[in-house]
Amino acid sequence: MSVPSQSELNFIGIDLSGATIRADVIDAEGQILETQESPKEKERIVEQVAHITNSFRVGNSRISAIGIAIPGLVNRQIDRVVVSRDLPDTVRDDLHSELSRATGLRVEIENDANAAAYGEYKLGAGRGSRNMFYMTIGQGIGGAIIIDGKLWTGASGFAGEVGHITIDTEGLECTCGNTGCLETVASAPNIVRRAKDRLYRDNTSSLSRLAMNRDFTADDMAREARNGDDFSLMMIERTAKYIGTGVATIINLLNFERVVLGGGVMDAGELILNPIIAEVKRRAFQPCFEATQIVAATLGSNAIPLGAAMLARDAAVN
Ligand SMILES: [Zn+2]
Repeated sequence: MSVPSQSELNFIGIDLSGATIRADVIDAEGQILETQESPKEKERIVEQVAHITNSFRVGNSRISAIGIAIPGLVNRQIDRVVVSRDLPDTVRDDLHSELSRATGLRVEIENDANAAAYGEYKLGAGRGSRNMFYMTIGQGIGGAIIIDGKLWTGASGFAGEVGHITIDTEGLECTCGNTGCLETVASAPNIVRRAKDRLYRDNTSSLSRLAMNRDFTADDMAREARNGDDFSLMMIERTAKYIGTGVATIINLLNFERVVLGGGVMDAGELILNPIIAEVKRRAFQPCFEATQIVAATLGSNAIPLGAAMLARDAAVN
């Protein structure tokens, strides 16, 4: 049997950030060849990943490396997960060595937002740019920096933590220990929290009726805004101001060519994107604003597994 050339190799990308493990096999161009999903068992991550990898390899001898996206901070210089609230076992275990041993393949581990950024950069809304900032706004807020075509992860691997820049010096305590982080006002749960606080004072909104029956989500608010609810629209526009303030700070610092915004909160589409851009325009240094394209992510939930697999591909080349 002949040895496959670099362009014929396949790569696995695995997303461990959600309740379900999502795993893809891609070719060297980034086309998805195969996908698997299975419920995540937090205490058996190594076994699960080894099992998925082995099942892909049964029919595919071209697979040469695995990229794994972790919901936590990853130091790639030492290939260790340093902090993970969702997967504490990956911090205690040496996931990287155990998986290399269990699969016989090269393994790359990376933070989930960094993996998503790389996916968008290579295959999605970041294509064609060289310098890009990626921000994901969902249950939490994450970010990642790509400079000259490479993820820039900082001195110890944690660059891009935009969710924890201070946006309100008088603000609420954050999970990180600081107060008034961007995440404390603009993540999906905090959009809902702010809306609930205000609903006590304004009960003309259609959300008030919704809130009587069940808890509402940021998705519900986007839908109600689209259906003409002024209160929901106002809350989304206020959220956009916070996010835009963060983006303005970032482009003033690094003069990015493109800013890609992803995550569930961006599912509100132009309702949130347009006021974000307006706020960046108001706050950023004008030449920086004019040089930056601010766009919505395009890969959705594919961004993380695709990015993880592309990181595995590109680490093989470099
Ligand atoms: Zn914080």
